[in-house]
Amino acid sequence: MHYAPRILVTGGAGFIGSFLCERLLDSGAEVLCVDNFFTGRRTNVAHLLDNPRFEIMRHDVTFPLFVEVDQIYNLACPASPIHYQFDPVQTTKTSVHGAINMLGLAKRTRAKILQASTSEVYGDPEIHPQREEYWGNVNPIGLRSCYDEGKRCAETLFFDYHRQHNVKIKVARIFNTYGPRMHPNDGRVVSNFIVQALRGEDITLYGDGQQTRSFCYVSDLVDGLIRLMNSDDDVTGPINLGNPGEFTMRQLAETVLELTGSKSGIVHRPLPSDDPRQRQPDISKAKSSLDWEPTIPLAEGLRPTIEYFRNEISELV
Ligand code: NAD
Ligand code: UDP
Ligand code: UDP
Repeated sequence: MHYAPRILVTGGAGFIGSFLCERLLDSGAEVLCVDNFFTGRRTNVAHLLDNPRFEIMRHDVTFPLFVEVDQIYNLACPASPIHYQFDPVQTTKTSVHGAINMLGLAKRTRAKILQASTSEVYGDPEIHPQREEYWGNVNPIGLRSCYDEGKRCAETLFFDYHRQHNVKIKVARIFNTYGPRMHPNDGRVVSNFIVQALRGEDITLYGDGQQTRSFCYVSDLVDGLIRLMNSDDDVTGPINLGNPGEFTMRQLAETVLELTGSKSGIVHRPLPSDDPRQRQPDISKAKSSLDWEPTIPLAEGLRPTIEYFRNEISELV
């Protein structure tokens, strides 16, 4: 008989997590979604609830969790600056205590465990594009530090559990990801610009708009996460997952205006502190060890994302 792997996805009711749960169920796995619903929503996984291989549990990963699983994807953590800065101490606890608990669980069950790390570990990078060997330029005491340093410490814990306890680890450094199911009020640039354009409000460009980001469509990213989890045990990462297509925030604003056909204007707002000036993944490692690269360019991925926000907004009014 075929044995369905039991897979735990923490943060499974979030934006990326919900797509991951869906893809894992499609592959025949049993999926346990654990979430405290801080930024995740039940509606993100409502369409999965009828599947007998899907289970959802309200739980905060800063507390121990005793379940029997074969694989763990550790995604629990708010990802947008306004959410992770809302309760910064809880953000650090989620990354650090959450990692300790999930690594303890992996150690006991001998499960493979993947960490959703981030390009934020590179801080405001002095190396461009960013390669995994770069140690980063992170302010340890700024407003973004709860997230950046929490994720850096989680990486340390992953490698120490690997060296000290032989836990099978995978560390993905995820770059800016977008798509349907992003929270309309999460303050990230893609959601802000699209919602503003659709409502005919001014687009808020922070600073001079010359800072860059590289945006990966969610289905490409999820494919990369699954390939990484299923790679050979000696592939621990850290490994960059992102789309190397790099854009200034002004270019993004103009693209969103064009694709939505909106008449919104563009207004400038102050640049938040420690906002990285440029960001672009070097994905040679993902290409060579996972045979992975993104397939969906920004303009293509923005279309279904805009449609999703159009529906969300019409439901809000
Ligand atoms: P999200 O906010 O939509 O999802 C995070 C999920 O974690 C939410 O469902 C939230 O309720 C849950 N959560 C938060 N704290 C928790 C806790 N203490 N216990 C249990 N659940 C908790 O964000 P996302 O964009 O889907 O990000 C998922 C993961 O990917 C995060 O770890 C994030 O840091 C990482 N990541 C995302 C991006 C991106 O651009 N989206 C980039 C780099 C890294
Ligand atoms: N832990 C957990 N689930 C498990 C096993 C451990 O949540 O199935 C937690 C445990 O409560 C501890 C943490 O993971 O706080 C780290 O576990 P580890 O075994 O590494 O450390 P120890 O229990 O020896 O402190
Ligand atoms: N940004 C912007 N207007 C907004 C929201 C964000 O110009 O309404 C900018 C922000 O200053 C940053 C970039 O867009 O330079 C990406 O911001 P986001 O919060 O989406 O992600 P992160 O900074 O964590 O990469």
